[in-house]
Amino acid sequence: MPELPEVQTTIDGIRPYLVDKKILNCNISVKKLRWKIDKDICKNLANAKIIDVSRRAKYIIIYGKEFFLTIHLGMTGTLRIAQENDIKKKHDHFELRLNSGYMLRFNDPRKFGMIFFSKESPLKDNRLFLSLGPEPLSEDFNSDYLFKKSRKRNIAIKNLIMNANIVVGVGNIYASEALFLAKIRPQKVSKKLTKKNCEDLSKSVKKVLRRAIKKGGSSINDYINADGKSGYFQYDFKVYGRTSLPCHNCQSDILQIKINQRSSFYCKNCQK
Ligand SMILES: [Zn+2]
Repeated sequence: MPELPEVQTTIDGIRPYLVDKKILNCNISVKKLRWKIDKDICKNLANAKIIDVSRRAKYIIIYGKEFFLTIHLGMTGTLRIAQENDIKKKHDHFELRLNSGYMLRFNDPRKFGMIFFSKESPLKDNRLFLSLGPEPLSEDFNSDYLFKKSRKRNIAIKNLIMNANIVVGVGNIYASEALFLAKIRPQKVSKKLTKKNCEDLSKSVKKVLRRAIKKGGSSINDYINADGKSGYFQYDFKVYGRTSLPCHNCQSDILQIKINQRSSFYCKNCQK
């Protein structure tokens, strides 16, 4: 599943091909992905000019003066830039043809992605966005905020930071990595976090996400005529997926446990 760094890198990769370009037409070859796709989307997008591409949580928002095209990659979705005569690939479900001769194509084998159109910004009134917590890389997500939100909470801290109502875009991989960096066990009860823990953890979340986005930036060319299998960046995970391998800090075995049915990895020596 693409996590926030992959989504951000997708945006960074496609943006130069979209900004200030006019949409000539669009083409949808499926009736539904995760939800039904509004069949008027293409009619509404024809001849519209794109102003910019932005992100909220893991939603990609391509917008112009009078339209907002919101895309979620779901489990297996990818966006790529293609050229006029590039042959369509299996599972290419949606394309925007631009006046530059390039196309934006959305590929999604498992069809858990979402595409929806609106005339107003979805951030204003779409129920998907209303209850979302702050962006992890924004100033609103900080130690005071995390300390406040973790009081009286009996759930594992890993679950708390993976809850989009608390903070968006921290998925299973980067939650494990951030907790290792902050030296906090993933199963630690949220309300027991000290102020120092919250300081360390909020900083670590930002650090692991920024590092992953930076790594992704160097593979930006993969988004042009890419095969759609971007996968995870060559991120040197410290704990994620490293069950029984030696901890980089202390050589103890990395342990794997389930928290809320999700695999979680930690070092019992380095994380308290
Ligand atoms: Zn260790």
